[in-house]
Amino acid sequence: MNDPDHTIWPQVLEQVRASRPELCRQWFEEIEPISIDAGSLNLRVHQAIHHQYLQRECAEAFKDAVQAVTGHLVVVRFFGPGDTVDQKPQKSQQEPVEEHIGVSENGAPISAEAAFSRGRVRGDELAFSPDYTFDNFVEGPNNRLALAAARAIAQNPGKAYNPMFIHGDVGLGKTHLLQAISLQVLAANPDATILYIPCEAFITRFMESVQAGEMSSFRHYFRDVDMLVIDDIHFLAKLDRTQDEFFHTFNSLYQSNRQIILSSDLPPDEIPHLENRLVSRFKWGLVAQIDAPDYETRVAIVRQKARVRGADVPDDVASLIASRIDSNIRELEGALTKIQVQAQVAGSSLNLEAARAALGVKDEPAPGAQVTIETIVDVVTDFYSVTLSSLQSKRRQRSIALPRQVCMYFARQYTRYSLEEIGGYFGGRDHTTVLHAVRTVTNHRESDAELSKVLASLEKKINGAASSNAA
Ligand code: ADP
Ligand code: MG
Repeated sequence: MNDPDHTIWPQVLEQVRASRPELCRQWFEEIEPISIDAGSLNLRVHQAIHHQYLQRECAEAFKDAVQAVTGHLVVVRFFGPGDTVDQKPQKSQQEPVEEHIGVSENGAPISAEAAFSRGRVRGDELAFSPDYTFDNFVEGPNNRLALAAARAIAQNPGKAYNPMFIHGDVGLGKTHLLQAISLQVLAANPDATILYIPCEAFITRFMESVQAGEMSSFRHYFRDVDMLVIDDIHFLAKLDRTQDEFFHTFNSLYQSNRQIILSSDLPPDEIPHLENRLVSRFKWGLVAQIDAPDYETRVAIVRQKARVRGADVPDDVASLIASRIDSNIRELEGALTKIQVQAQVAGSSLNLEAARAALGVKDEPAPGAQVTIETIVDVVTDFYSVTLSSLQSKRRQRSIALPRQVCMYFARQYTRYSLEEIGGYFGGRDHTTVLHAVRTVTNHRESDAELSKVLASLEKKINGAASSNAA
């Protein structure tokens, strides 16, 4: 098959964008189609980290796309910097010319790309993502301290804070920050040896080395580095012998001023069965927590994710996603993907209506109208003839509990407040109470025709009040 005019490639790219939006990146624009011949579409990228991303994440999607476009069995080959097309593509070790993002000791500018391909990164156990840079990390009140510390360490490894210990729930950006530091240190010091490894890999290597009687090479591997970055260190919980070995690794690096960076789901003293001497060492430097992002930060993250994907997300769509999903950032990304895919299937643009359909949002107020918690409380207390202060009290009889639950349900549906905030508003209740209220009302709404009617009429009133406020 021949394609002298390169008409196939744009279609393939379009196809990948349509079917797998979550894989797409803005820099896909820079991929060069070299040729399509002998059943192979040959593509070139100029950065090693992009090359790795394509090989690691995208091989299947590109193959499916090219087959969908051409109707033929065509394989896709990605060529990195330095690969020549008549040889098999391979991982590049060459030094490409790229934008300058760092400065070396002698003052010469150095690109992250050069550093990445030249530097002795031992990230083989865990691939670096081109997405996980400081530029792509949105600052918010939830991560301000961790981000500031990460930047300080990236500029001054071994000197700013040692060790650095970042903790927070799953999906809040720990891995992202660890990789951002690693990539930036490499950019500035291309000759640095950085070992970036998930804790599970540390554990596996330790066990294998013990079995094979190769502890001295194990020690070499982990101690002869300029910076050791271990992700998800809480996996050390309960592993006495591995903890013991890690203790010595830690001491050896620490004594020679090598930077140590750790992430964990839990703060040091809450990791179960962690030796005290490790707990105390983990607190020697800086312990920074990442919390769940607030609404504004979530909006900014959705927009940032869309930008990285090369997608255009209108403000109202970003707000909608951020208001519906308030815990895990991966879920924000999942919602964005869902909306992108469904808009594509429906042949529509990525607009609010498509987004609401994709996320199953119903009965929203008129555009421009803002439902406030006060509106909800007014409508509900009026209907049930109760007062706000009784809803905020400890009283639990049904005549109070039901309207309280209904308020929580609507607050969840119409406002962007988190479960915690809603619970706080209704008498300092915790988020599980709100979650329970939302579930209870949702379930009864389906099974109880009477309640269902009441809720529908309350909804009308709430929307009406909100729209007249907006007008
Ligand atoms: P963790 O390691 O804490 O489980 P990750 O670092 O894997 O979380 O983050 C999950 C996803 O959320 C990643 O795609 C990451 O890029 C994204 N993310 C988290 N925090 C931010 C932020 N502040 N700005 C942009 N993206 C973020
Ligand atoms: Mg992680």
